[in-house]
Amino acid sequence: MDCIFCKIAGGEFGTEFVAQNDHAVAFLDINPQAKVHILVVPKTHTSNVSELEDPQELLGLFELIREVAKTKTDGQFRLQFNTGSREGQSVFHTHAHVLSNQAN
Ligand code: AMP
Ligand code: ZN
Repeated sequence: MDCIFCKIAGGEFGTEFVAQNDHAVAFLDINPQAKVHILVVPKTHTSNVSELEDPQELLGLFELIREVAKTKTDGQFRLQFNTGSREGQSVFHTHAHVLSNQAN
């Protein structure tokens, strides 16, 4: 499968991770929409958050989202999962956007 976020999560592009755990990686969005714009991406491929059913994967993803929000923002942030092309999803590997107008 030719999935850019699988490749990034697998380290193929040498993308710098701002944080990671056993289940997910976090890196800067290439086209930031706010002062802080970080993507949090499960290491295992699913197409969107509706497909993400495994409890350990969900827990790992949300633990990393909370860590990034705590360490990279001032505690005020938006969390967004675009799901489906009509709703703005352009990369079809599950990812959370953590957006904030104030870095920590
Ligand atoms: P979405 O539109 O919700 O699918 O979000 C995909 C996001 O991935 C967009 O905000 C893009 O700017 C971002 N993006 C695409 N390719 C890369 C990349 N190679 N590195 C970092 N961010 C990327
Ligand atoms: Zn993928």
